[in-house]
Amino acid sequence: MFKQFGAKLKALFGVKTLDAAYYDELEDLLIEGDLGPKMAAWVSDEVKKAVKSEKPKTPEDLQNLVKKLLSEKILEYHPMVDKENASVFLMLGVNGVGKTTTAAKLARWYGAQGFDVTLCAGDTFRAAAVDQLEIHAERLGIRCIKQSNGTDPGAVVFDAISSVQSKGKGLLLVDTAGRMHTKENLVRELMKIDKVVQARGIDEDHYKRFLVIDSTTGQNGVSQAELFNQAIPIDALVLTKYDSLAKGGALIQIGDKLHIPIAFVGTGEGYDDIHPFDKEEFLDTLVGLE
Ligand code: GDP
Repeated sequence: MFKQFGAKLKALFGVKTLDAAYYDELEDLLIEGDLGPKMAAWVSDEVKKAVKSEKPKTPEDLQNLVKKLLSEKILEYHPMVDKENASVFLMLGVNGVGKTTTAAKLARWYGAQGFDVTLCAGDTFRAAAVDQLEIHAERLGIRCIKQSNGTDPGAVVFDAISSVQSKGKGLLLVDTAGRMHTKENLVRELMKIDKVVQARGIDEDHYKRFLVIDSTTGQNGVSQAELFNQAIPIDALVLTKYDSLAKGGALIQIGDKLHIPIAFVGTGEGYDDIHPFDKEEFLDTLVGLE
């Protein structure tokens, strides 16, 4: 568990003899915590250097040192939405990560802030995905734009954007496919949707691409971020299942490798279980400062 990792780190920082074995252990622990071998070696080396120069006295000093190092890798992002114009949020991610639930949660979140929110069922390849989004929309009392199963997702998104634009303003949250027969097909479909949004004249300030990642997947989350970011430049991440976050270190790798910030975290299955990402809190938990 994520918290256990912090506790282990804290316990290790309590060790008095800072010899080679100590740094090996620190590196192993960081790898175990999903920071990846490269990052683990870098942190361990930096701690070694800092111990010489800064002479930390307490475990907290060491924890703060690691926090400072990792802090550079993690980015926080708070999307601003223009109430006076049409905006589009694309929800991307592999099946099962919580994409549809996140679209519904964000619909509620932005709806509560006075935005006119519309959902769009852009995963036209799975009838169940369309049904699920519709159920959420009904429960939330929010409009959901869909077309029959198998329709070109680009066409659905085109119509949905036109509909929002005809009102002059509003936030469109688009659910997309998470899996197709091949990765190439998926990438092609997503790129098509991306082009449609741009072709409808939605500029970068009003168009955000969110990648939904299950925070418990660890290393796999890093590969997912790489794959989707190659297809479409991702603006920010939404981390689901943060309530059972076990693999915090993987997020550091995503930040380090791809420089993608984190916008929201999902903390449960309810519609209100979504919160803006808090970097300080995340790092404190990761290094065991809480
Ligand atoms: P999709 O296939 O990516 O659209 O995934 P779904 O939205 O259908 O979610 C898959 C499962 O994960 C469902 O049972 C959701 O209730 C659950 N889920 C989604 N987000 C969260 C979260 O933040 N925390 C927890 N505990 N469960 C979540």
